[in-house]
Amino acid sequence: QLREQNGYAPMVSDFESLWTRRLYGRIRDCFNRPITGVAGGRVNLLERVSKDFNNTFQFTGRVLNVLNLASYNYLGFAQSEGPCADKVEEAMHANGITQGSSRAEVGRSRQLADTEDMVARFVGTEAALIVSMGYATNALNIPTLVGKGCLIISDELNHNSLVSGARLSGATIRVFKHNDVRNLEKQLRFSIAQGQPRTHRPWKKILVVIEGLYSMEGQFPKLPEIVELRRKYGFYLFVDEAHSIGALGKRGRGVCDHFGVDPREVDVLMGTFTKSFGAAGGYIAGSRALINYLRLHSHSAVYAEAMSVPVLAQISSSMRMIMGEDREHALEGQQHLEQLAVNSRYMARRLAEMGFMTMGDPGSPVIPLLLFNPAKIPAFSRECLRRNIAVVVVSYPATSIITGRVRICISASHTREDLDYALEQFSEIGDLLMLKFHKDKVAQK
Ligand code: PMP
Repeated sequence: QLREQNGYAPMVSDFESLWTRRLYGRIRDCFNRPITGVAGGRVNLLERVSKDFNNTFQFTGRVLNVLNLASYNYLGFAQSEGPCADKVEEAMHANGITQGSSRAEVGRSRQLADTEDMVARFVGTEAALIVSMGYATNALNIPTLVGKGCLIISDELNHNSLVSGARLSGATIRVFKHNDVRNLEKQLRFSIAQGQPRTHRPWKKILVVIEGLYSMEGQFPKLPEIVELRRKYGFYLFVDEAHSIGALGKRGRGVCDHFGVDPREVDVLMGTFTKSFGAAGGYIAGSRALINYLRLHSHSAVYAEAMSVPVLAQISSSMRMIMGEDREHALEGQQHLEQLAVNSRYMARRLAEMGFMTMGDPGSPVIPLLLFNPAKIPAFSRECLRRNIAVVVVSYPATSIITGRVRICISASHTREDLDYALEQFSEIGDLLMLKFHKDKVAQK
């Protein structure tokens, strides 16, 4: 029934693509696995009936308790008990789950106002706006900032939510090569007639959009160089800190903290609470003028449900712990940060020593391990699951077809035993699938 019928295209029309038909269909059991319980350092997966090709969720009844290297639970705050969970429970009893209106209607709850102030303080800006979904934070706020007659210059590997926001905005979009500052400058020179006064530029505004940590590559942006370019060419800079906030920098304040860049050098700092804070939603932080403008004009603020108060409780309690402001748990946040940094470096170093081809900058909590051959993607994932480990495998369209990879997400909640167990298993799988490159070559690098 997927073929063309009645002279118009079928509703589900993507099925003919080579990728979907030949590859994705065969490896879909590696994705979208049914889980129960908290996706913390370990997670329960329900075993599916093999050949459940229609994705109908038929289970064998077996629960697999696996080591979770698949969630973005960087600081280990995704939990169902402990100080944050207590605050969430209290907030739920006091406020329920929903306010049943956008902030522009019934109003902004006290907790929302307080958490927005806290986010601004944490990030180092004047003000912040919280949005109930991370994806929509990008998709709906970029169009509020730029539109027709404006230019967006975007890193080629930017997340889909940034691409959606750019397309929705109606601005002209140009793409620069991933993390290539020279290429970005070339695009800027090309876009701005040199020597013209700023008022004579052909664009109303120019917005350069990058990420604080590229989650498919584990790479940091060249922030100090891009900030230099911002001074030279006078564009606005938008940084998506979904993966870097809470995870990078000595104080966990993200990519600016990591590079020692003043956050006020970035015009728009966006981030999500889904990763390091074990919560949900996103934020935009920046000058008071910017945030006041977004509060009035952003569709995410005017037309979408305000953030649920129990979720705000998770955000504010975990953030307070990271900032060391929770007296009872004063050291815990800092310990989580240090543990994440130690775990990430340990994993990356040991994988490289074993001869795996890994990507990413030192200290990145996401460690991609390259598989190259698409056939090895499901094999790696299934071998891991057989050994009670969950990993994320990624390939086209999130990466190019020949650079498919496993993404290992490190958390502060992983113990050294967890990591050593995973390394031992990866080593065996690496031999089985011939993924190890000659150790001498790695040593020379
Ligand atoms: N930006 C980036 C860079 C992301 O990786 C993601 C999701 N992983 C988002 C935005 C969307 O955030 P959320 O999942 O919280 O909706």
